[in-house]
Amino acid sequence: MDRSKSQKNFTEAKEYFPGGVNSPVRAFGAVGGEPIFIEKAKGAYLYDVDGNKYIDYVLSWGPMILGHAEDAVVAAVTKAASNGTSFGAPTALETQLAKLIRGFLPSMEEMRMVNSGTEATMSAVRLARAVTKKEKIITFKGNYHGHSDSFLVNAGSGAATFEIKNSPGVPHVLTQLTLSAPFNDLEATKHLFSLHNDIAAVIVEPIAGNMGLVPGTQDFLEGLRNLTKEHGALLIFDEVMSGFRCGLHSAQGLYGIEPDLTTLGKVVGGGLPAAVYGGKRQYLSEIAPVGPVYQAGTLSGNPLAMAAGIAVLQQLEESKYQKMADLTERLTAEMCRLASKQNLPLQTQAKGSMWGYFFNDQPVTDFARAKCSNLTLFASIHRKMISQGIYLAPSQFEAGFVSTQHTDKDIDQTLAAFERAFFEVKKEANRL
Ligand SMILES: *Cc1c(COP(=O)(O)O)cnc(C)c1O
Repeated sequence: MDRSKSQKNFTEAKEYFPGGVNSPVRAFGAVGGEPIFIEKAKGAYLYDVDGNKYIDYVLSWGPMILGHAEDAVVAAVTKAASNGTSFGAPTALETQLAKLIRGFLPSMEEMRMVNSGTEATMSAVRLARAVTKKEKIITFKGNYHGHSDSFLVNAGSGAATFEIKNSPGVPHVLTQLTLSAPFNDLEATKHLFSLHNDIAAVIVEPIAGNMGLVPGTQDFLEGLRNLTKEHGALLIFDEVMSGFRCGLHSAQGLYGIEPDLTTLGKVVGGGLPAAVYGGKRQYLSEIAPVGPVYQAGTLSGNPLAMAAGIAVLQQLEESKYQKMADLTERLTAEMCRLASKQNLPLQTQAKGSMWGYFFNDQPVTDFARAKCSNLTLFASIHRKMISQGIYLAPSQFEAGFVSTQHTDKDIDQTLAAFERAFFEVKKEANRL
């Protein structure tokens, strides 16, 4: 596979951007490769600048649930753009998207549109601190809530990929307000509550997708609901990834748990920069201009992003989630069968259209276990998959996704590529 144009683009990009990229995991550093520069995408496929075609399981890290350049989304964005791209004044589009969101997620009685998941979680925590008049928060190791200061403690995603436990530049006093417990460990969380009486919120990815895919257990999430209630702390579900991804009613619908606040992003912006935080009206009424908690944004509720989000949410229905879940189930089940044929230790998980795989001999339920995965094997398989036209996230600590545009044939082709990659790594290992 010729990737010389990508290489040339990368060399030039490195002159301008740290590592040649505008978000760290894109650099492919963890898999010893070089990033692929994308020319265009349609449906389930990416096309790079050298003209290579890939089946895409990254889907812009989650947003593209209807596939790339979906006709209705393109039409909606084009129409919105022709009417003007930003006004800094309200439009009916914002209300239309909010209505759709609340229709699926009744816990979001009121909400605020922002531009990124980072902004949504940052603002939700500010609100929780204001409402409870307490300052500490509990996060879980390997969860990722964006890159604002308070969250760069034991975080997942790129921070995990590059082994950044605590980022330089984050004031020590702030990290002291962020307590962290192992994911899926209710006892450890209880212990933190017994040690600290000033906890404003527990924020959790109910289905963690930033240390690979690790679903929260029902008991753990229900336990968090009870624990936060007991101690007067708010429960924040960070559904920036799982929202409208794992199912129509998101993780809160799947688990039947109502959080106090929810953050959304990715799918909700339909591939444009939009994110949301929201929850009970009594809390949202603390936000300016009604209340004293300040939060604002020049481009918040941007008409292009709202139009894209509306066009996506309008098309989502149970039957599509069922189809995506079926494809994901088949993919992960067959991957396990193919790996065991080669005696490779593989663990897979799937939730709706989210999936993940670890080269690990034990099931992965938290970050400590995820970190025991064979990263060398992961990198080797990743390179072999890319060169067969299968675009997978370039890190063990990221989730995979399918879209409504993926077909059985795409899954067959992907499985054939995995079979060959597994066979080749085994052959190479035997030679050593
Ligand atoms: C992606 C993600 C974020 C951050 O969103 P950005 O739009 O990248 O700032 C926050 N939380 C979770 C769970 C995410 O997956």
